[in-house]
Amino acid sequence: MSKKLLMLCALCVFAVSALFAGCGGQEQAKGSEDGEKVLRVGVNADFAPFEFQDENGSSEYQGFDMDLIRAVAKEMGYTADIQNINFDGLIPAMESGNIDIIASGMTINDTRKQQVDFSDPYYTSGLTIVVPVDNQDIKGFADLKGKRIAVQIGTTSMAEAQKIEGAEVKALNSSADTFMELKAGNVDAVINDLPVNDYFIKKTGATDVKRLEERLTSEEYGFAMKKGNTELVQKVNDALKTLKENGEYDKIYEKWFGTKPGK
Ligand code: GLN
Repeated sequence: MSKKLLMLCALCVFAVSALFAGCGGQEQAKGSEDGEKVLRVGVNADFAPFEFQDENGSSEYQGFDMDLIRAVAKEMGYTADIQNINFDGLIPAMESGNIDIIASGMTINDTRKQQVDFSDPYYTSGLTIVVPVDNQDIKGFADLKGKRIAVQIGTTSMAEAQKIEGAEVKALNSSADTFMELKAGNVDAVINDLPVNDYFIKKTGATDVKRLEERLTSEEYGFAMKKGNTELVQKVNDALKTLKENGEYDKIYEKWFGTKPGK
């Protein structure tokens, strides 16, 4: 082997081990080499207007949660490093130490509270149904018995759909997939979070589907952190409080929803 090749191999081994050394740490919010503090944020970037990229996935992560978590991190003196992960893989990713916090329209509920600690709530949401525009027999949740329903895997919509008698529940990877199934006529309805359903219809200008009025639940979104990481929860809550007091939260809210919070 030539000397050059040997050097190259040694370099590769070094690079790979450096890469592994950066993974899987248990501690929160690692510092990068230049001393910058990094908050590793897990998101499922298919949940507009909360977290998404443009159609070809090339743009920076954008949305309400993305602006808010970046502002929270900044307030804490950190930089947010955003990683895109399947929704049902977010909590496992945090448990294995790959991310510090989940900012992904995650509803605070008792089941999840057994696995993670939540920040104070930062958004009030709820579940609604989308059906084909010409559908006459599904007027609300009571009419979903025995129907084919698409939901995103691991979500509160999936949990609710599974409670419906005789329903055939299709659990898909992304909310985009659920809308596609509906448009293709493979399911009778989609259950998803209200603002996401509305944003989808508005953004795509879809006229072949409609969102029903009934809102099944009131749900609150929170940032999820590793169970027992009280120090980080406290820091995040303090930052959220500051952003609410200084008007920054309202600004971000208005940017994405067009109104002030609570309107
Ligand atoms: N709010 C819902 C949940 O927490 C859906 C979240 C999502 O799909 N990003 O289950």
